[in-house]
Order: sequence, then structure tokens, then C-alpha cells
Amino acid sequence: MSRIAYVNGRYVPFAHASVHIEDRGYQLADGVYEACEILDGSLVDARRHLERLSRSLDALRISAPLAPAALRFVLDETVRRNRVRDGLLYLQVTRGVARRDHGFPDKPVKPALVVTVRALDRKKIEATAVAGIAVITVPDDRWGRVDIKTTGLLPNVLARQAARDAGAKDAWFVDDHGLITEGASSNAWIVKDGVLLTRPSSNRILTGITMTVVKEIAAGLQMKVEERAFTPEEVRSASEAFLTSATQTVIPVVSIDGYNIGSGKPGPLAIRLREAFHRTAEIGPKIA
Ligand code: PMP
Repeated sequence: MSRIAYVNGRYVPFAHASVHIEDRGYQLADGVYEACEILDGSLVDARRHLERLSRSLDALRISAPLAPAALRFVLDETVRRNRVRDGLLYLQVTRGVARRDHGFPDKPVKPALVVTVRALDRKKIEATAVAGIAVITVPDDRWGRVDIKTTGLLPNVLARQAARDAGAKDAWFVDDHGLITEGASSNAWIVKDGVLLTRPSSNRILTGITMTVVKEIAAGLQMKVEERAFTPEEVRSASEAFLTSATQTVIPVVSIDGYNIGSGKPGPLAIRLREAFHRTAEIGPKIA
């Protein structure tokens, strides 16, 4: 089964999918993206991801590449053509192709849209969730608008690599006030005195779709959620910690900077939220 990518209006074999060398995404990271889970052949929380995409595009004054219904069709069609049951859909919109110049093109150009899909090994993610992961902390040296989901991810790339170099799975950013902002590609949570803590939405974090759904799930399970930032020391003394992201849903975090969190094993609330996730997320419609 060969992979297919959607590139600017065409479905093309993955090996031949390409964009112009003066695409502003390539030269200037002048673009935005979304990553959406595929579960049993259906997109998870596509509506919310597309709403966030609209907000990111508006913030950068990039026009929508397609009308909402047409875009949704392309996403479903890309999943269908790749016959992926469990995996990840990636979509990217850049300002388009223009002679390199920092300012926006004088004559408006068409935004460029690329959609790819790949299978994920659900068993492997499940095994990661059962074991829990180690994280390290790194200084948050990103720009001031990380609430916009742009393709400018160099600090996130370096943070993830620093984690790998340290033998950990992920990195949590710490701001100038000594407070954790979020993970390299996830939102950060801890449990303290039975209360779930996560940082409130602001321009210092990306408001995760998974985070939003988990807040709803927690409310439904009568768990208390407090939205406030916390320090690495609070993580060390927390009873449990976890991260949320669309491709992994809820993943327990069992150590930070080499210190065990709680029992050093995945905590019960993280496990319950993970189990409940797909019962609350919007899934579908099923793609034949
Ligand atoms: N923060 C950052 C920096 C991310 O890259 C992601 C993953 N897209 C998230 C948070 C989690 O967002 P979501 O739950 O929508 O995947």
C-alpha cells in the first residue's frame, strides 16, 4: 500500500510529493500546522483542530486555503486513500510561494496546503503509557506567541533532542519565573493533594485540544482541576504527573530531572483519564 500526500490540490504519491523551494514555510517558517489523531480510521476531534487552525491562520493573516467543508473533505480523503486505521494526520498551511522577502508578498499569493498521514503503532504507545516516561526541564527560550501553532519549532526540536541526549523521553519548558510552561509537544499536568493542576491558557502555551478534552473528562469524573502554573520542585513532590497531546492522549510522567514522581509509577488519575479519553473525544465520521 503506497502512501499518498495531498499537496496544493492534488493527491500525489508520497515519494514524489514536493513544494517549491521559495515556499515561505520552507524559508521563513511562515506557516501553521495541526496534528490530529486517527483512531480506527476516523479523525479524533477534527472540529476542534480545524477551529484552532482558523485561529492560527487569522493570527498570522494567512487566508484559509479551502472552505471548512472542503478542507474537512480533503483530510478525510487523505486518511481514506492511505487506508490508515491508527495513526496521525499532519496538515500544514504556509503563506505560499514568493520571492524571499521578510514582509508579506506585495501581490497576495495562494496559501500552500499539505496533508500527510502515517500509521502509528498503538501497541507501542500503549506500552509507553503503561511504563510512564521520564522528562527533563529546559529553559523556555521560545518567542512570546507560542499560542499560535506555527511551524517555527526550533526550540522544541532542541528541547526534545536534549531530552533524548539525557536518556529521557521529553522536555518540559521552564519560564523566566521558574514556572513550567508546557512540554516540547504536549501540555504538562501534575496531581497535588488530589487536585489536577495545569497551566491556564495564555500566549505562553499552546492550548492543547487534548488538554481541553481532559478538563471536560476530569469534570465529568468529579476530579478537581485548578488552572495554575507550577514549579519543577512541585512536580518532584507531586503524587503524579502526566502530559497530554493529540497523538498520545494522556501519558504518565514518572520522573523529572532524574527524581521519581510519587511512587515512580504511572498514577491512578492519569490512568483513569487515559482510559476515559476516547469516550469523550469527538470521533468520526467513520471513513470507509
Ligand atoms: N503544546 C505544544 C508545544 C504542542 O506542540 C502540542 C502538540 N500539538 C501540544 C501542546 C498539545 O496540543 P494537542 O493536545 O492539541 O495535541
